[in-house]
Amino acid sequence: MSSKTEGASSFSLLHAIRNARISTKITAVYAVILFILLVIGMGAMALGVYYAFYHQAEVAIGISERQTVEKIEGGADFTPNFWDDDPVLPGVVLRVTDITGRVVFENDAHFPSLPDIEENTRIRPPFWADQSMAVADIGNSTIYHATVDVMHGGSIYTLHFLRTITAESAFLKDMQRFLLLLTAAGFLVALGAGYFLSRRVLRPIRTMMATAREIEVEDMSRRIAPAPAHDELHELAVTFNHMLDRLQQGFSQQQRFVSDASHELRTPVTVILGYSDLLARWGQTDGEVLKEGISSIRSEAENMQQLIEKLLFLARADQKRQVLHKENLELSELVEDVMRKMKLVTKQHTVTLEKNESGTIYADPVMMRQMMRIFLENSAKYTPDGGHITASCVRHGKFMLLSLGDDGIGIAPEEQSKVFERFYRVDTSRTKAEGVSGTGLGLSIATWIAEQHDIHITMDSALGKGTTIHLAIPLVDG
Ligand code: ADP
Repeated sequence: MSSKTEGASSFSLLHAIRNARISTKITAVYAVILFILLVIGMGAMALGVYYAFYHQAEVAIGISERQTVEKIEGGADFTPNFWDDDPVLPGVVLRVTDITGRVVFENDAHFPSLPDIEENTRIRPPFWADQSMAVADIGNSTIYHATVDVMHGGSIYTLHFLRTITAESAFLKDMQRFLLLLTAAGFLVALGAGYFLSRRVLRPIRTMMATAREIEVEDMSRRIAPAPAHDELHELAVTFNHMLDRLQQGFSQQQRFVSDASHELRTPVTVILGYSDLLARWGQTDGEVLKEGISSIRSEAENMQQLIEKLLFLARADQKRQVLHKENLELSELVEDVMRKMKLVTKQHTVTLEKNESGTIYADPVMMRQMMRIFLENSAKYTPDGGHITASCVRHGKFMLLSLGDDGIGIAPEEQSKVFERFYRVDTSRTKAEGVSGTGLGLSIATWIAEQHDIHITMDSALGKGTTIHLAIPLVDG
């Protein structure tokens, strides 16, 4: 295979692993870990058993060697009496060879011959075996083999100690096979159990997926049933449902906004169309109609322009595109300036700036002006001619408390929280009848600006007595 195709196949394997189902991945990881543990466990067990068997033979040979050497050094002869006090442990074979290699004495003549054993000795004995002893494999038997030279009656003799571990070897082979089978079976069980468990654990996720697929923009009412156990999946379902709640709320708010906006725009457009029909029919001949028509169209177009400006402002605010340029401002200068201009604009009311303490705030000057103008223009709109509009700004702890009030028509208690909602207007027919035009968006814009500056708004109002707006504006040096 060329390196290019090799690279491609390893890439596609990686790709397949990455794209495999989570249940498959969990199963694979689970099975591989268990398999590794099984292999390590079984391997350690097998090694332990091997070591124990080899060690047993080593100990038997070691004891026999010591006792025999002691006996020979004690002067014992190679006669049948030599075996009297069992110098060699049961199972250990002793062969004595002279300097020519001829066997001169032994306790088991049927044991494989020394040249045979020599020939079949393993070149490299297993690492757990005593390296001073040799290991030979003859047919089905494994033989442990140690030699020691002794002086006896003036001649050198070699003592060969032999012990078979044939029975143990057979057992070890059986055990090896059994452990292999057990590992394979364990691996299969791990695969099966992993697959079953991961499918079970992930079932709620599949249910969630099915529900999520059924959720449409037209019907966002569907929710996921959280799993009964209070685990991560339960939390996921609850979080998912919360997200849907917020989306649904945002979505219906958006829908309401669009339908309210269209509704608001329809009135001026209808009026403009009505006047243009009137002008088309009578405008050329009747000067009065012409004048009234043009002025009405202009005033409706101005209303529309204002409404569109406000809608655009709120749309930018909703999309977080409304940019603020905050800086350190002397609030008293700003209040003074806004109030001076207010006096020029509304001649029908008495406009008074009662107190104007100084304080530095961190704010966008254009936005701050816009917010104050919204409250003050409302005061002017909803206060009959001859009424009073007042402002007062005092320092209080870490805040500047700015109050903007009037003694106008006031707002009924049940309406007071609603007036901050978009498009909400109290008793439109009455205000319209008095020639007051509004969009119901002013207070929403003012609230947004206040929020952007951490300004807390409270409203104090009573029907027929007037309305005061209190603003707590954080001070920079407070
Ligand atoms: P609008 O363009 O209608 O003034 P706002 O959002 O500014 O919209 O105000 C919402 C409603 O709150 C107004 O329609 C009015 O009924 C009421 N309102 C606001 N300010 C005052 C006030 N100072 N006095 C009485 N009513 C007020």
